[in-house]
Amino acid sequence: MTQVNPQATLDSYEVWFLTGSQGLYGEETLRQVEEQSKAVHAQLAGALPVKLVWKPVLKDADGIRRALIEASADDRVIGVTTWMHTFSPAKMWIGGLQALTKPLLHLHTQANVALPWGDIDFDFMNLNQAAHGDREFGYALARLGVRHATAVGHVSDPRVQQRVANWTRAAAGAAAVRELKLTRFGDNMRYVAVTEGDKTEAEIELGVQVNTWAVNELADAVAAAGADTAAVDALVAEYDAQYDVVDDLRDGGARRAALRDGAAIELGLRALLEQNGSAAFTTNFEDLGTLKQLPGLAVQRLMADGYGFGAEGDWKTAVLVRAMNVAGAGLPGGASLMEDYTYDLTPGAEKILGAHMLEVSPTLTTSTPTLEIHPLGIGGKDDPVRLVFTADAGEAVVVALSDTRDGFRLTANVVDVVPPTEALPKLPVGRAVWEPRPSFPVAAEAWLTAGAAHHTVMTTAVGLQVVEDLATMVGTEFLVIDEHTTARGFRDELRLQQAWHRLDRGF
Ligand code: MN
Repeated sequence: MTQVNPQATLDSYEVWFLTGSQGLYGEETLRQVEEQSKAVHAQLAGALPVKLVWKPVLKDADGIRRALIEASADDRVIGVTTWMHTFSPAKMWIGGLQALTKPLLHLHTQANVALPWGDIDFDFMNLNQAAHGDREFGYALARLGVRHATAVGHVSDPRVQQRVANWTRAAAGAAAVRELKLTRFGDNMRYVAVTEGDKTEAEIELGVQVNTWAVNELADAVAAAGADTAAVDALVAEYDAQYDVVDDLRDGGARRAALRDGAAIELGLRALLEQNGSAAFTTNFEDLGTLKQLPGLAVQRLMADGYGFGAEGDWKTAVLVRAMNVAGAGLPGGASLMEDYTYDLTPGAEKILGAHMLEVSPTLTTSTPTLEIHPLGIGGKDDPVRLVFTADAGEAVVVALSDTRDGFRLTANVVDVVPPTEALPKLPVGRAVWEPRPSFPVAAEAWLTAGAAHHTVMTTAVGLQVVEDLATMVGTEFLVIDEHTTARGFRDELRLQQAWHRLDRGF
């Protein structure tokens, strides 16, 4: 595996641009195919967040198989795009597609935009025949049951560029999960059902390694970090500069020591996660060992850096937060653990107030969070330090991952984050207020019917298409609640997905 980088970045990844043809056409035509393939690649590559690598035109079964084995074997490669510039008889692709273990985007395009109607002769027709070359290839994908996405149109069209860009972001998210080593501190919250799950199945289906460390190993790392007063000084100075710090926590303030404890937690947590090669983790407020506070500020800052996180031992949501952090790298907005907490049930104006005890990522706001300290009713520890803010208004997607025992189910709801109806002066946590699409009653009924969790990832950086592509890549059930959803249609879709996934697993 490539070196683990907890920062959310797409820099280490590449997608291979593959062009299909065949030897039949002769050297002159194949030279033109190569030229046009390079031109199409150049137009597309400039519009993508992930490096797109041009590969020589594929003309026979051996070359195709070799290319797809190499793509599968190279850790940097997170997927391939395939375009049949000319007719590339699809039986040539069977061995290669069977060897491919990476996501595939079928790029259905051609070199020219408009047809040169007055000049078209049969040489032109022979050179530019993706219209049926890609149909031949589509048959092979369908026949072999290769999970894939399709992008249709000229690569100069911004809609096509956006489509492919979204797919590369999903592929990056899927790769980040495949290479993820998740550290759990303690187990799941006692008696809770939906945060449970089959960790072996997760590694089979998603690739993620989920393992547990004793929380006192974290406490030891935090104690060691706290002994390095210079490092703690530097980190609290960073807090002072970055946030709107309340008087009590400022230098000379009555509770400055609690902020230093919070800094030690962050330093120790980072050190242990680096040692484990982990880019995601969970905590459990019931199991904090000798830690002085429930990690709040530290968790918020690590999520903002790109780490995945789930509270109460919820490793499935931690996986989602990591995936969405990587998929959204470089975009405005962010990704965070979120929890559907309480409602405003004013008829026709229903809203969901989401938050967590402490652990919401400040990437959901463009404002400067305040850094505060308040008591926490549960956990029996010192008052924890935390960032307080309200998520920016705008479109978002909340996504939950449930273990259905037959496999995993992703449920996504497109929502509109809105400003709180009134100020929330007595709620000192990171929080978001949203209206789910298509409406609160339909969305909530569908969510409950799907058995989707109270914990989600909320992403404001990427939209539904990225989540959908990611679901296709990992092969989970995928249920969407958006402006097109009806309660009846959703129930039917749920049954269909359940039946399909049970069949798809074989016997
Ligand atoms: Mn929770």
